[in-house]
Amino acid sequence: MNKPCRYRRIVVKVGTSTLTRETGSLNLHNMEHLARALSDLKGMGYEIVLVSSGAIGIGTKKLCLAERPTELRMKQAAAAVGQCMMMHVYDKLFAEYNRTVAQILLTGEDVDSPIRAEHLHNTFEALLELGVIPVVNENDSVSSAEIETGKCKVLGDNDTLSAMVARLCGADLLILLSDIDGLYDADPRTHPGAKLIHRVETITPQLRAMAGGTGTWRGTGGMVTKLNAAQLAMDAGIEMVITNGENMEAIYDIVEGKDVGTRFAAL
Ligand code: GLU
Repeated sequence: MNKPCRYRRIVVKVGTSTLTRETGSLNLHNMEHLARALSDLKGMGYEIVLVSSGAIGIGTKKLCLAERPTELRMKQAAAAVGQCMMMHVYDKLFAEYNRTVAQILLTGEDVDSPIRAEHLHNTFEALLELGVIPVVNENDSVSSAEIETGKCKVLGDNDTLSAMVARLCGADLLILLSDIDGLYDADPRTHPGAKLIHRVETITPQLRAMAGGTGTWRGTGGMVTKLNAAQLAMDAGIEMVITNGENMEAIYDIVEGKDVGTRFAAL
């Protein structure tokens, strides 16, 4: 008999570096393992929401552009193409395990507006009730414009988006699959003795300084946005774990409460 579930609803966020290779091609190995693990968790009784980045990166490759575009309209075009391809691949992979996925694209405005947020909440509820795994991304073809004009509040990164989605759909656990093992007490690239922090109860200014201070791995690891996401999640009573997406099997240990990556306690 299965053990009683410690969590009921889990949001998993996966980053572009986990979904694509350095050449820009899809990392089918990681995508397959992700689809299998999430399908399995679904079968174990958990409700799953996937927040997936990758639209711009995948679109860049599909359009055979030499590099990730910098011009806004090209970035938005790449996102539109990449999102389509990404969903096609997810649909195929999840279907192999007899799971149905749905696409939800949203902007910061959608989450901020009480009416739109309520509709979103209801849509998530309905999809989960139907046994579907929603796949969420920021609506990049729309929201990047907001970033540039600065007129509207935007999310801009999927770490923050995933915490907002976790809050919106009443999740109890948020897992961020990244290209780093978790939060370290120093930059592991320059400090070989840096230790992984397994548990964080409070996000202190010291912790923020460690993640975002000069000379740390802010630029590549994106730890600052992860700490912001953690704060949002913790405030909403949601546990959050950062772990390396190269080892999808870790997801099983995380839902069992084992010490994998960095776990942020719910307040
Ligand atoms: N929404 C972007 C994309 O799908 C990624 C944003 C992020 O990586 O945080 O390409």
